[in-house]
Amino acid sequence: MRWIEAHTIRQVQRCLSANVPIVGGGSWLLSDGSVPEAVCDLREYPWAQGITGNESGWMIGPDVTLSQWLQALDSENVIAEVIRKMGTPIFRRVATVIGAVANPQPVADLYPVMRLLGADIFYIDLHHDSIQHEKLMWPFRANPRALVGLWVPASTPYRFIAFRKYTKGRLTRVLLNLGTGLAQQGDIMTADFVIGGLSQWPYEDRVAGASHSISHQISQRLRNQGNITPFYQALIMEMCDDVLNQWEHRADRRSEL
Ligand SMILES: Cc1cc2nc3c(=O)[nH]c(=O)nc-3n(C[C@H](O)[C@H](O)[C@H](O)COP(=O)(O)OP(=O)(O)OC[C@H]3O[C@@H](n4cnc5c(N)ncnc54)[C@H](O)[C@@H]3O)c2cc1C
Repeated sequence: MRWIEAHTIRQVQRCLSANVPIVGGGSWLLSDGSVPEAVCDLREYPWAQGITGNESGWMIGPDVTLSQWLQALDSENVIAEVIRKMGTPIFRRVATVIGAVANPQPVADLYPVMRLLGADIFYIDLHHDSIQHEKLMWPFRANPRALVGLWVPASTPYRFIAFRKYTKGRLTRVLLNLGTGLAQQGDIMTADFVIGGLSQWPYEDRVAGASHSISHQISQRLRNQGNITPFYQALIMEMCDDVLNQWEHRADRRSEL
């Protein structure tokens, strides 16, 4: 296998046009035993390296592993909560943050919370001679592309963001996950949710109304979708009610009431 370490836009574009797969931590190579003729490694791509953070957010380079980001985050941060639920410690030391957002699987754990936080991806494609950026959103519009940075803003429109995941065991395939962002003004609550596992692409929706009615509204919305089985509706509602309950009992919220 040829291991190509790309350092310039032209080198990356040559890989993209020759369909050379990009490699992050390589967990895909480890798990399915693929041996492509060549891979393109962006972990030393000089545009963004490591984790740079300031009061407005985080910039994550392609070299940053899940465990490095976890260590840099406050343990209460919802991103830390998501990463702690991903695989095993050794997996998190190998897999990269950008590998996890570049890999559009039907259920991917970082995606829902990154969407709610309004993360941006920076990428190289075949149509531009400079690095492009846009909001992270699957499916990606431009294909193929190589991600060289992830920007995660520190400020969010939400008062509370939570993540829930349903799986048979720590290392079995994730069956369903849910990211929820709650905003509240007086008694009016807005709940945005991103659910992975129902279909090929995560399902996103929003409900708003009196806070006591939010659970009922989400339940109605799921029922009206028509293609979500009663089993999945019940599972999602368990997760939503758990999140609403957690929000209800948060000390910082209680102190404001
Ligand atoms: C043991 C194990 C446990 C796992 N557990 C979880 C889990 O709990 N939750 C979860 O969500 N996922 C899980 N996964 C899936 C894993 O998170 C994803 O496969 C993730 O992509 C791994 O990151 P990586 O850096 O190793 O990516 P790689 O395996 O190197 O790459 C994955 C895919 O992303 C593409 N890619 C990587 N980097 C870039 C880039 N810079 N630009 C464009 N494309 C790129 C690759 O071409 C490939 O298609 C698990 C996988 C394994 C093997």
